[in-house]
Amino acid sequence: MSPDAAATDWIVLKFGGTSVSRRTRWDTIGRLMRERQADEDARVLVVVSALSGVTNELQAITDHHADAAEVARRIDALVERHRAYCGELSIDADAVLGERLAALRALGQDPRRESGALAWQAEVLAQGELLSSTLGVAYLRTQGMDVDWLDARDWLQAQSLPNQSDWSRRLSVSCRYLGDAALRERFRGNGRLLITQGFIARADDGGTAILGRGGSDTSAAYFGALLQARRVEIWTDVPGMFSANPRVVPDARLLSRLDYEEAQEIATTGAKVLHPRCIHPCREARVPIWIRDTERPQMAGTVIDHRAATVPGVKAISSRRGIVLVSMETIGMWQQVGFLSDVFERFKQHGLSIDLIGSSEANVTVSLDPSDNLVNSNVLDALCADLAEVCRVKVIAPCSAITLVGRGMRSLLHKLTDVWSEFGRERVHLISQSSNDLNLTFVVDEALVDGMMPRLHDLLTHSGAMPVDITEVFGPSWKQIEPSGGSRREPWWRKQRARLLAAAQTDSPRYVYHLPTVRERARGLAEVGAVDRRFYALKANPHPAILRALADEGFGFECVSQAELEHLFSVLPTLDATRVLFTPSFAPRSEFADAIARDVWVTLDSVYPLQHWPELFANRQIALRIDPGYGLGHHEKVRTGGKEAKFGLPAEALPEFIAAARAAKARIVVLHAHVGSGIQDVSHWPQVYAQLVNLAEQIGTVSAIDVGGGIGVPYKPDGEDFDIPAFAAAMADIKAAWPQYALWIEPGRYLVAEAGVLLAKVTQVVDKLGQRRIGLDAGMNALMRPALYNAWHEIVNLSRLDDADGVPAEIVGPICESSDVLGKRRGLPDATAEGDVALIATAGAYGFVMANRYNLRALPVEEVLDV
Ligand code: ASP
Ligand code: MG
Repeated sequence: MSPDAAATDWIVLKFGGTSVSRRTRWDTIGRLMRERQADEDARVLVVVSALSGVTNELQAITDHHADAAEVARRIDALVERHRAYCGELSIDADAVLGERLAALRALGQDPRRESGALAWQAEVLAQGELLSSTLGVAYLRTQGMDVDWLDARDWLQAQSLPNQSDWSRRLSVSCRYLGDAALRERFRGNGRLLITQGFIARADDGGTAILGRGGSDTSAAYFGALLQARRVEIWTDVPGMFSANPRVVPDARLLSRLDYEEAQEIATTGAKVLHPRCIHPCREARVPIWIRDTERPQMAGTVIDHRAATVPGVKAISSRRGIVLVSMETIGMWQQVGFLSDVFERFKQHGLSIDLIGSSEANVTVSLDPSDNLVNSNVLDALCADLAEVCRVKVIAPCSAITLVGRGMRSLLHKLTDVWSEFGRERVHLISQSSNDLNLTFVVDEALVDGMMPRLHDLLTHSGAMPVDITEVFGPSWKQIEPSGGSRREPWWRKQRARLLAAAQTDSPRYVYHLPTVRERARGLAEVGAVDRRFYALKANPHPAILRALADEGFGFECVSQAELEHLFSVLPTLDATRVLFTPSFAPRSEFADAIARDVWVTLDSVYPLQHWPELFANRQIALRIDPGYGLGHHEKVRTGGKEAKFGLPAEALPEFIAAARAAKARIVVLHAHVGSGIQDVSHWPQVYAQLVNLAEQIGTVSAIDVGGGIGVPYKPDGEDFDIPAFAAAMADIKAAWPQYALWIEPGRYLVAEAGVLLAKVTQVVDKLGQRRIGLDAGMNALMRPALYNAWHEIVNLSRLDDADGVPAEIVGPICESSDVLGKRRGLPDATAEGDVALIATAGAYGFVMANRYNLRALPVEEVLDV
């Protein structure tokens, strides 16, 4: 077969279980068939799965084969289910399914049942697709369509492979899919509109063979290749392949166009949309694959073909659970000849196919993927027993493999720095880089994976390793396709545009703070009833108007330096000292002395001050900051826990601290932890709390627990607001469990970030070697966060707010440093010109307060809006 042979007139459509289990879905199938016939003058072959859940039920029957009563009971339930569905389709169950249901019952009486013979299991499993395809043909005929039923086994022939186990030879087969003109001619005799079964094929002995779970996609691909179809359409319940599992990563982007190799890699490494085995046949025959969503038939989905442009970069990050690692250590000699062949031979004997490999002089570690293998404890025990003859074996499970997929992984390493450091926090058992340069895989403990995926996806898009602005490849995000309940409030600055534009005409750059927004956030937190005291961490933004507004809202304050204390009391001279916390880092003795003289709460986070300046703390109540042992947050540089962080007393050092406090006659009454910032997941605080409570019990004198701040805000326009009700519920649970402690929090960013914007003027627009740069009169001197943490701030052209996005540009400042970049790949309007006003959003926290006079540029001005 020549790969470029002209396509025939066939289009193959495959529908999965959920797409065949409702009458309306069959109406959709009928309509899609008619449209293809009428609009494209095509012949249509539809491949169907069993009704949803039916294959699982049939599998359960094979699992319980020895129990005749159980088998009979389960068969009865399946018969009932299909009869009821005939009712929904208004077709006569006896006339349409009578014979098939009798065949299903007969399998329950079959003499091969007792032993669970593999050939019998295959017959049983095949019934689901035989039933669903029969139903569909009957229903569409009642709708006036001229469709015919086709037995897939007459066209798909199982092919046995070397070293295959008996199980896979019957229940996980591959088929021949090279068709010739004669076959295609014969096939035309079947009719123009056909429905057949996925999942089943003819075994060598003439009986039934099974393609393996999820095998209907592969059936469709085999038919597509055999028939040299124009395309194979896989209709499913998601719009296509995504850059990550959208259920775990709402920011995941639809992948609009992929080549076969990338699609193969994505499917193999975890995406469930397409069965990995189905790509190869289409690739060989050069049949394009379309992935379509039955619920959203108008969406273009994913197209996989050989014409897809080659775009280097990470296309997807996927994960697979249930990975088993087998580590094998030589017991023989250094560089023992034939070691690999000795061990691999044993995998072969057990019919196990190996996925990843890592090796050293004396060890080789491999992974077994459960989707290619029957990896149960019997098989593993037998394998290990055999391997023990030639090496020391260790099984590490359960693990998960996290894979980055994309072309040219090896040339992307410099963009993966943040990804490496994310993995650096976890235990990585194996790293493997595929020899086709399409994937990089990390094997970690299974429990870690779900939490890591959204963060890794974020790092990949931020670093540019995943080139999401290439719109031929990256479509909309899952969040855009299916907006969830949670969303972001409309930012205040949109309504204040005219005022902001006028203000920007005078001094620039300029920070503008919106006090009503500060109050709104403060009141949101005030609703969290379980919290007894709220302190504003004023390092985020010490503007006097903000301090006064928050004092009026009942907030206390947290200061980290003597200068902050002085500033606070100069703005609020009558503030009660018990509303102030002093939590410095490596401050000199004099600052502690000053804080104590003011009688504010003083927090220590190491034993040093108690041991060296005990007289300061004599007969005083102190707070203790604990390092819970790990850090969290939006960037490595803001995580404040763990060995790498300078903050906090590790739990191990608590006895020493208690002793020093006793010696100094200080009483530890507050226990505090703060592990980072930009945290959106409310489950974090209860975790910290539980740890602190544990320690508080050891100390005995603690009456308040301060869980810190770190509450995140949405920096992205499609980000979500922090879930205050969920936070309130989590805090209420804590309070209910440990009512004896007062509960304190100390947010900073959350109160002020969204309330502030930075306005700057466009200075120049320059195109250099194909890269557009928009210069502003504000850069890393005015807002350090992008340069310091790779922070992402929304940047808009306020003068042309309603214009469409233009070519992606880098937004740069006036500082003589390469890192003076406020935003990369931003689609500001093409007409953006000198003098336009740019607005950098969510700049109210850590904005002006971190601004500096580098290059001797003036500090930005600040302005407050109170309405
Ligand atoms: N019905 C089979 C299964 O559930 C095949 C398929 O749906 O793809 O595995
Ligand atoms: Mg499927």
